[in-house]
Amino acid sequence: MTEYDVTVVGSGPNGLAAAVEMARNGRKVLLVERSDEIGGGTRTKELTLPGFRHDVCSAIHPSAVASPFFNEIGLDVDWIQPPIPFTHPLGNGQVVALHRSVAETADQLGRDADKYRRLVQPMVDRVDAVVDDTLAPLSLVPDHAATFARVAAIGGMSAAMLVSRFDSVGARSLLGGLAAHAIAPFTRLTTAGVALLLGVLGHSHGWPMARGGSFKIAESLAKHLVDLGGDIETGRDVKTLDRLPGEIALLDVMPPAAAVIAKGRIGAVVGAKLARWRPGPGVFKVDLALDGPIPWDDPLSSQTATVHVGGTYEEIRAAEAAVFRGEHPEYPFVLLAQHSLFDDTRAPSGKHTVWAYCHVPNDSDVDMTERIEAQVERFAPGFRDLIIARATTSSAQFEADNPNYVGGDIGGGVYGLKKVLQVGDERPYKLGEGVYLCSSATPPGAGVHGMCGHYAARAALG
Ligand SMILES: Cc1cc2nc3c(=O)[nH]c(=O)nc-3n(C[C@H](O)[C@H](O)[C@H](O)COP(=O)(O)OP(=O)(O)OC[C@H]3O[C@@H](n4cnc5c(N)ncnc54)[C@H](O)[C@@H]3O)c2cc1C
Repeated sequence: MTEYDVTVVGSGPNGLAAAVEMARNGRKVLLVERSDEIGGGTRTKELTLPGFRHDVCSAIHPSAVASPFFNEIGLDVDWIQPPIPFTHPLGNGQVVALHRSVAETADQLGRDADKYRRLVQPMVDRVDAVVDDTLAPLSLVPDHAATFARVAAIGGMSAAMLVSRFDSVGARSLLGGLAAHAIAPFTRLTTAGVALLLGVLGHSHGWPMARGGSFKIAESLAKHLVDLGGDIETGRDVKTLDRLPGEIALLDVMPPAAAVIAKGRIGAVVGAKLARWRPGPGVFKVDLALDGPIPWDDPLSSQTATVHVGGTYEEIRAAEAAVFRGEHPEYPFVLLAQHSLFDDTRAPSGKHTVWAYCHVPNDSDVDMTERIEAQVERFAPGFRDLIIARATTSSAQFEADNPNYVGGDIGGGVYGLKKVLQVGDERPYKLGEGVYLCSSATPPGAGVHGMCGHYAARAALG
């Protein structure tokens, strides 16, 4: 029988990253996954019709291409960079886009052009420092103090404060769409940071997708693990640490599940901290098979894989605030990806896929299909006539598919100052002797970057 040093529970990008980091430091690793398939948030399936390959969860990967860990080990993923990172239609053929070039982006923003340039260009120029300090546990002694001070001063603001510095509909909407990725009210401190980081990465690294689907990320990480002597076991739902091999366990699960699995190994202080964890809002997702490309009424949205669908800043802010009041917005903010425009492995020739979701209250079972499709139709008249098949996933279904999405929360817990302020070293990761949390509930949080797994493994390695 194989002697393992480490068991990793869960094979999302963070579990895989933790396993690879342990294995490349000479540990014999067993990775255990409850589902029949590895990948967690990085899976790709024929959700609608044969030949139409949809990303089940993550779809667009600025944080993966910027990830220091993924870049250090080298992922065997063919990244496709659409010409434009993302667009934001404004109706009647109007649109604002985040281009790779800061200048080109600023040029659309009229009287806000200089302000945008002055805000973003310095961070793009020092993007390696920005990434080092933000895709990491927050440190009291950041590696790049000057850059960090600037990022923290602006990023620590609420999105509403950041947006209030701008006058033009274009700049305000562009930043509002970015801020909505925080899945938090725009009045919450640090939501500006999410907008800035994603925007800066759009300029510096693009918003790419993996040719063939997000599963390619999981596949590549799994290959690293196996090449380093690790083993993977699927179809095993871990309920307790009792029969797991090895001295060390790394858990790619949410805090409530960790409290159950590691029962008896967690001290009172950490136990109380896990009990305080709360999920954020949920999501409702629609995957579509289309008979043709989406007929956007603006000239730019066919040149990007990602479209922010929701109209003006004021509309998006209202939609996100409604979700936090426990309501289902009539006009939701929709994140939409159209992979097949750039990746011919996603759909049969001439056909297309659409991946779209909106935020809803946690644990919602309301069907948002009609509202999501109506929002797209607003900016692409005739879109609905192209739909040949659809698959929908409610918040409850997300959780049934992957228990890490508690009540449909895809962010690893509600976003806000408390989450950001989990200060560095091993504390956010270590639960007890030999037990570590490595999921997106730990810093630096949600997204496919593997950095939670990487830092948890570093804490376990001591
Ligand atoms: C609809 C949607 C859209 C998204 N879009 C993007 C995007 O475009 N870009 C981006 O960067 N991120 C996106 N995300 C977020 C991203 O997918 C997550 O942040 C990321 O997958 C978190 O990785 P993780 O390893 O922490 O957890 P997960 O990916 O959730 O993986 C956890 C794994 O652990 C397994 N597991 C859980 N409990 C147990 C147990 N008891 N025993 C054994 N196995 C267990 C699960 O089955 C799962 O495989 C999206 C998520 C969703 C749902």
